[in-house]
Amino acid sequence: MANQFAVIGLGRFGLNLAQKLFESGQDVLGLDVNEERVEEAQGYVTHALIADSTDEEAMKSVGIRNFDTVIVAIGNDIQASILSVLLLKELGVQKVIAKAINKLHGKVLDKVGADWVVFPEKDMGLRVAHQLLSPNVLNFIELSNDYSIEEVKIPEKMIDKTLREIDFRAKFNISVIAIRHNHDIFISPSPDKLLDEGDVLVVIGKNRDLERFAKLH
Ligand code: ATP
Repeated sequence: MANQFAVIGLGRFGLNLAQKLFESGQDVLGLDVNEERVEEAQGYVTHALIADSTDEEAMKSVGIRNFDTVIVAIGNDIQASILSVLLLKELGVQKVIAKAINKLHGKVLDKVGADWVVFPEKDMGLRVAHQLLSPNVLNFIELSNDYSIEEVKIPEKMIDKTLREIDFRAKFNISVIAIRHNHDIFISPSPDKLLDEGDVLVVIGKNRDLERFAKLH
């Protein structure tokens, strides 16, 4: 069964998020105070309505507590963003995700009960910087301040060698958890797996070891 999502604030962030969920087969209600934004969203979400998320009656009348997840994608109007999260949690919405535009805004959203606070500009800035510093790293997930999982293009000198021969754990202190080749993915590859041109390694380890490995190319 499709999940029920509501996205409040149909700016660039909110609308892109809503559209992606909708295209993936989820039920998405888009809400915005601005009529034009609601018009623009028609066809990209299941329903789009004009509503103010700081208005308790309006939120009750759209049955907001029946949604599995509500995303508050209001940024510039910090007051509206905070009041909306507070109200949604008070009305019993299980999972509220909120966009923050700065650290303090994020802290307050956390305090009023947001289940997940996202910082799109900060995260994208860090991601682009990371990509510029390590062009061989195609993607990464930070597990903590010290550990990450990364997708790294294989260095040319490793083509036609097996994982056993390279011995990632002993040499680089990192583990290969999967190998991706175009759309094929090999999870927990055997030590005898031969590395091929175009392979992408999914590796886990300490950030400084991963950095050292990504610079080998
Ligand atoms: P983005 O950076 O995502 O494009 P933006 O710059 O358009 O956003 P934001 O302040 O982040 O501006 O607002 C996003 C949307 O949230 C706007 O379309 C705005 O009309 C809507 N919005 C603001 N306050 C409310 C509210 N109380 N209820 C519903 N929607 C709201």
